[in-house]
Amino acid sequence: MTDLNKLFEQTKNIALEYLETLPERPVMPDETALSDLEHFKETMPEKGAAPHEVIDTLHRYGSPATVATQGGRFYGFVQGSSLPVSVAANWLATTWDQNAGPWILSPIAAELESVASDWLLDIFDLPREATVGFVTGATMAEFSAFAAARSALLKRAGYDVKKSGLRNAPKIRIVASAEIHPTNIGALGYVGFGSDEIEYCPVDNEGRIIPEKMPALDDRTLLILQAGNINSGAFDPYEEICAIARKAGAWVHIDGAFGLWARTSPKLRHMTSGIEQADSWSTDGHKWLNIPQDSAVYICRDASAIEDVFGVSAPYLVRDERRQPNNLTPELSRRARGVEFWAALKFLGRSGVAEQIERCCRHATRFGAALTASGYDVLNDVVLNQVAFACKDEATTRAVLETLQNSGIFWLGPTVWKGRFAMRISVSSWATTDADVTRCIEVFQDTLQQHNVT
Ligand SMILES: *Cc1c(COP(=O)(O)O)cnc(C)c1O
Repeated sequence: MTDLNKLFEQTKNIALEYLETLPERPVMPDETALSDLEHFKETMPEKGAAPHEVIDTLHRYGSPATVATQGGRFYGFVQGSSLPVSVAANWLATTWDQNAGPWILSPIAAELESVASDWLLDIFDLPREATVGFVTGATMAEFSAFAAARSALLKRAGYDVKKSGLRNAPKIRIVASAEIHPTNIGALGYVGFGSDEIEYCPVDNEGRIIPEKMPALDDRTLLILQAGNINSGAFDPYEEICAIARKAGAWVHIDGAFGLWARTSPKLRHMTSGIEQADSWSTDGHKWLNIPQDSAVYICRDASAIEDVFGVSAPYLVRDERRQPNNLTPELSRRARGVEFWAALKFLGRSGVAEQIERCCRHATRFGAALTASGYDVLNDVVLNQVAFACKDEATTRAVLETLQNSGIFWLGPTVWKGRFAMRISVSSWATTDADVTRCIEVFQDTLQQHNVT
């Protein structure tokens, strides 16, 4: 065996062991695992180590200190796992170590992005001519779309922001759902808009914008809606809002970090009706598509707005009709993210994507019903994969949450919904099974009883 062979063989075996033992280990690292992280805290080594030692140390002290998001019982935040085929594709792509900037540096990276773009526009049923850019996460997808919106809105006002800068520009208004995900506020900051500039739209009980209460829009407005409220999973009424926005000439962005995937399911799609009328969209791959971190896309109807923002010129950067990924995202050099998008979509097919989304929603529905039956207050209409729920008072909710988090069997996080301290389940992993849900429901029941008795 060559050294390379041994190294890869060792790593393959470790990876298999990691995944195979995942279902039995605590979802969160235990105390020993955390204190063992001390082993990494050495001063810069004078001499290097053998590759097999490096990997061995990584596994011995690293693997136990991971959070088991690759398993089926992590329900905190909105967190996907990685489909095995996407992990394998990621390995291969890392082996290739392609620079997915200019086409000439990696024809395969550029072409797989093209194919994955077309497929995404197809399953999301969004304008087929839209530009799709492969970025690290929904936050950067929002950033990219906001930068394009800023450029386009100002261009319509006769102002070239790239040339003349934002400080002298005509005012752009930002109107957003009161329930907008906080990353949007961060992303607005990156493109020069402060949080005090945001005009918020009132929302209903499920966190959906009430169109009649929306501030008046105009052709200098960036309007930010969402698909999939982080607590309720709810969708804004796009038909109505987009009609108003179109008339006014406003730019509509949809934060669909996870919720946009509902559009791929014939059963759930109705909730996204009208979403195709927006100007830009952002969604994650590492959440509901279940591909490795860190992967997301923005989608932008107006290709020229993207070119205005990210187009780079240099004598050595070719411009032709081929896809030049470096003109579509903030980075020049970056990894070939399109590979995993392509691999997951090729593996799942249209029906498989829809099934994966629907399965998670079925699990969430089961959780919702079982929690209600057990005496928890479920606070949202469980229309998607998110369940927000609480106990009779905040002290009990906090105590119960702590017990649940320490169970080791699964993990979920806190939230505040409709002014109430609550817990939240997000089922976003392909790996969650009916048996996982059954096992967790028992823990939910036992824990509540235990706390109500004392
Ligand atoms: C997760 C999430 C984001 C941020 O996504 P990242 O991939 O973590 O950057 C934005 N909006 C919503 C609704 C989300 O759920």
